[in-house]
Amino acid sequence: MHVIMVKKRLLNGEACPKCAEAEALLRARGLWSRIDEVVWAEEGDPQSRGMKLAVEYGIPLAPFFIVEDEGSGPRTFTSTLLFVKAMLGSEVSGNPSAPATALTAEEILQLALEFEAAPPERTVKWLLERFGSAVAVAFSGAEDVALIDIAVKSGAPFSVFTLDTGRLHPETYRFIEKVRAHFGVTIEMMSPQLEPLQAMVRKKGLFSFYEDGHGECCGIRKLEPLRRALGRQQAWITGQRRDQSPTRADVPVLQRDTHQGLSGPVLKLNPLAAWSLQKVWSYIRANDVPYNALHEQGYVSIGCEPCTRVPRPGEHERAGRWWWEEATKRECGLHT
Ligand code: SF4
Repeated sequence: MHVIMVKKRLLNGEACPKCAEAEALLRARGLWSRIDEVVWAEEGDPQSRGMKLAVEYGIPLAPFFIVEDEGSGPRTFTSTLLFVKAMLGSEVSGNPSAPATALTAEEILQLALEFEAAPPERTVKWLLERFGSAVAVAFSGAEDVALIDIAVKSGAPFSVFTLDTGRLHPETYRFIEKVRAHFGVTIEMMSPQLEPLQAMVRKKGLFSFYEDGHGECCGIRKLEPLRRALGRQQAWITGQRRDQSPTRADVPVLQRDTHQGLSGPVLKLNPLAAWSLQKVWSYIRANDVPYNALHEQGYVSIGCEPCTRVPRPGEHERAGRWWWEEATKRECGLHT
């Protein structure tokens, strides 16, 4: 199924009020993600594609919708309400209940190649439509907030979690609250299990990672809560990018993860894999998305307070994480 919405753009560059109302209605009903293509009918330009479609289908007014189904002719809707009714009555594209394990390794590889040049909006939409609400965005409290913005704008249901290690900067906690209020989303705070945490702190104190590496502390404060969070999902969405560090240079847009989800290993979507840090910030500014106040102090990649410093000039952005350890060990295990 391919759905086109034809909207009219007035001479002042704005969408016609009815078109704006129709979009708001679709978003409110969670159906905006069902629009595959928006085509503009430019006021005063009979050659614009939307104007030509209006003539082709004999429809005098925008907005209208063209639904192309395989094997049958196109259907048109001039009433947004009738379109909503038809969409709600039809099967959601993909199969939200299909397990992530239904995709073979070859299919995942093929999709990863296809998605290589695709905008994050498209890959996120694909994942959310395919697995319904059993998809979570992993929010680290840093610049990957762009992912939440993209997921919210898709109109599809999803959940958000963050790993509350108990060692985050105060600015990060405030930022998480800001994001919750800005988007109106629930952010599941995944806390570590009490018993192993208390045992480690009792035995080794609060800063043992400077002595014997971050593995044990990250295992308790991050990895175990992550496993619990993913155990409820078919797939997750991360903000990993190739330009973040040498350890992420080969990150694909889509991959099978080793973490176990609802029906076996989860799928992991890295929609920003090919993005640069500059591109992420262009997105944040262009879309007026909130960001962590620590970025204004020079922090780039932000994790726990004792394990994050501002990178020095010329260093890559994750050089400020676990800086006392070898560069090849600067992953917390979430993505290995
Ligand atoms: S980043 Fe540091 S404080 Fe946070 S969980 Fe890992 S070792 Fe512990």
